Amino acid sequence: MRSLLAGRVRGGLEFRSYVQTVDRRVVNASLPKVVVIPLAWGRMEASHPVVKPGDEVKEGQLLAKPASVLGTPLYSSVPGRVRDIVPVSLPEGEREAVILDLAGTFERRAKDRTSDWADMTPEKLWKRLFSSGVIRHGNVPLPIGRFLPPPGRKAEALVCACFSAEPWRYTEELLLGLRREAVAEGLRILVRTVMPKEVHLVFPEEERTVSRLFVRDLGDPGIPVRIHHVARRYPFTSDEMLLELVGGARLTWGRLPVDEGFVIAEPSTLLAVRDAVVGGRPVLEQVVLVGGDVVERPVLVKVRLGMPVFDLLSQEGTMPGPDVDPMVFLGGPLSGREVSWLGVPLLPGVDVVTLLGRGATGGEEPCIHCSRCAQVCPRGLEPWLLHEALGRGDERLLSGGAIEGCIGCNLCSFVCPSAIPLADRFREYLEKEGEGHGEG
Ligand code: SF4
Ligand code: SF4
Repeated sequence: MRSLLAGRVRGGLEFRSYVQTVDRRVVNASLPKVVVIPLAWGRMEASHPVVKPGDEVKEGQLLAKPASVLGTPLYSSVPGRVRDIVPVSLPEGEREAVILDLAGTFERRAKDRTSDWADMTPEKLWKRLFSSGVIRHGNVPLPIGRFLPPPGRKAEALVCACFSAEPWRYTEELLLGLRREAVAEGLRILVRTVMPKEVHLVFPEEERTVSRLFVRDLGDPGIPVRIHHVARRYPFTSDEMLLELVGGARLTWGRLPVDEGFVIAEPSTLLAVRDAVVGGRPVLEQVVLVGGDVVERPVLVKVRLGMPVFDLLSQEGTMPGPDVDPMVFLGGPLSGREVSWLGVPLLPGVDVVTLLGRGATGGEEPCIHCSRCAQVCPRGLEPWLLHEALGRGDERLLSGGAIEGCIGCNLCSFVCPSAIPLADRFREYLEKEGEGHGEG
């Protein structure tokens, strides 16, 4: 990974040489024999199952009902039989899940009904999105209640980053290229739902043609549309950095864009919005890219929600070969989490599965005060100082609020020549503090 480092200007890093050729098409994964649907993941409240072991379910049938808008309705992504409802291991910990064995046949899906959503009220659209199980596909998946303002309440702005600056996370820009008109329609639907004062679209600086075409497809949403062309500099497409770009508040630990009145949605989320409203169907599938330095040619695969990672990696062209034993990350190599158990299900929030070779890694060494961590920190923090304060238990320095500005981008850990897991230590500290203050 370090050889990929290409340059840096006042925080963040630009990765250039990771760019690989990707097939500009989506391969349909073969059907999984088993599907795992957790009752919650990311920052969702657990839903309550409405099925029990032994029940037969159809594709698209409701499996679990949320108690509030902080959860989401969950649907069966395949026809099958409920084998069990048991805890499974997710990257964030154990969660109850409905385990389904594939059985029965798929009913022919009706073609998209072109529902005339322009006549639907914002409240009705909001309810449609909630009842269809639309959630935001960000790094941390969010239910409607944590992603959109309450029904009928206006957002300050709607922000769409049409790419990710993290290595191997091409999924969003590929989806935009493949389904540009549908993404634009999803954006128009969301504009009608949350009635923002303005829309911000964020593109890579070299993609002027793509931005022109997308703006043409978007048409006139009746509010100002501001276009930003930015460097492919990680983590400048994170929520925190996007909010700074468009002039919003500085998000601190535990705060979400909607807490500041902003809605951020990526192309995959906008497609889910569009398919829920126009197609009138719950979210049952998603597109995942398999990439990484041991993957010769990254490939986009459409999977059923809840398909285990090992099924994805058994699709043709996804695994590097029998001699390679890669590290597997759900998400990008910097923002994702390494998983050792490949039974983990694929769910919204995982747009890429990254396979990396196991380079020789030394253990953690003492800090040499080189200040590289401070140079890359996009929030202007001094990670080495904060780390020393953590080691000393220096509450005076820690309670100054600086550490709450950390966005967990992992860049400081990535560049540290002493292999100090700075970002992990900050996250552990903040999670512990959050528990004390009732934060999830
Ligand atoms: S993980 Fe936190 S401290 Fe480290 S570079 Fe990112 S924002 Fe800065
Ligand atoms: S990059 Fe690592 S070694 Fe260098 S100052 Fe930061 S913590 Fe210390």
